[in-house]
Amino acid sequence: MKPCQSVTVLAPAKLNLALDVVGLLPSGYHDLDMTMQAITLYERVNLHRSQNLTLQMPGSRVAVNDKNTAIKAAMAFFHYTGLLAGVDITIYKSVPVRAGMAGGSADAAAVLVGMNALYGAGLSMSELCALGAGIGADVPFALMGGTCRVQGLGDLLKPLPPCPDCWFTVVMPDYGISTPEAFAAYDRVGSSVHPDCAAQEAAIRAGDLAGLCEAAGNALEECSGAKDTAAIKAALRANGALTALMTGSGAAVFGIFAQESQARAAAEQLKKQYPQVYIARPDRGGARVLRAYRAGR
Ligand code: ATP
Repeated sequence: MKPCQSVTVLAPAKLNLALDVVGLLPSGYHDLDMTMQAITLYERVNLHRSQNLTLQMPGSRVAVNDKNTAIKAAMAFFHYTGLLAGVDITIYKSVPVRAGMAGGSADAAAVLVGMNALYGAGLSMSELCALGAGIGADVPFALMGGTCRVQGLGDLLKPLPPCPDCWFTVVMPDYGISTPEAFAAYDRVGSSVHPDCAAQEAAIRAGDLAGLCEAAGNALEECSGAKDTAAIKAALRANGALTALMTGSGAAVFGIFAQESQARAAAEQLKKQYPQVYIARPDRGGARVLRAYRAGR
């Protein structure tokens, strides 16, 4: 891509169709086996060439400092490419925070993809993923998107065929969950739920939505002790969800529906109690440039 003055990038949120903890890595981090699915709920990120490095997140309470994943991504990009330049970043957040939907990782992925386009740097997907892995475990998936079996720390990605057609109703309660705290709780309490990720991969390859749902589960769900998970799952199931589970380290909970009408009915009911309810479908991509402007803003 030719260098340009400004770009707009879309970066999808993710859901975990399955999450299992299968052991510990030599580094001491948890060894994971997961199915991740990009969904049609997006962070929209504008990037403009600049002499400085600035970040704005209108309407968001997320702190704008050097711990922000967007700033980390910009710094990593400049460090890797050796470019002496800046960038003005504006993030319009739609993905709830501390939800297990990788909003912060989506922002980092969007900045990497956007800066690659802005400066015509020509970094490959594997270079972007290597940079992304240094920022956060979910960033490589946020770059790849679609449907993936994800193992290790989150950095070993196997792209799968697109997930069978379905609808998701996603409910964010009025609390979030910190990822380190979720894993600490797992270490204390363990889990009786260990989803069969291999069976789920086979179901996805066969286009079998019922099989995908049968193999769904989240090993971090029980130990989270999140107060609303069980009630949200019950409401989703009562409205026809084939399955319902927490995503990632929580706190968002989602149902998988074969029918749009059922997903919408579930959302209508849950909106009475929860302010953040989303309807989404599987997305086949990852962070991508939506528009590039050659000159001016
Ligand atoms: P994951 O599924 O990757 O664990 P999550 O949904 O649980 O993601 P995020 O919302 O992505 O978690 O981020 C959690 C924390 O990271 C926030 O509490 C926030 O302080 C910090 N953070 C840093 N940069 C960002 C960003 N750009 N967007 C959101 N959170 C960010």
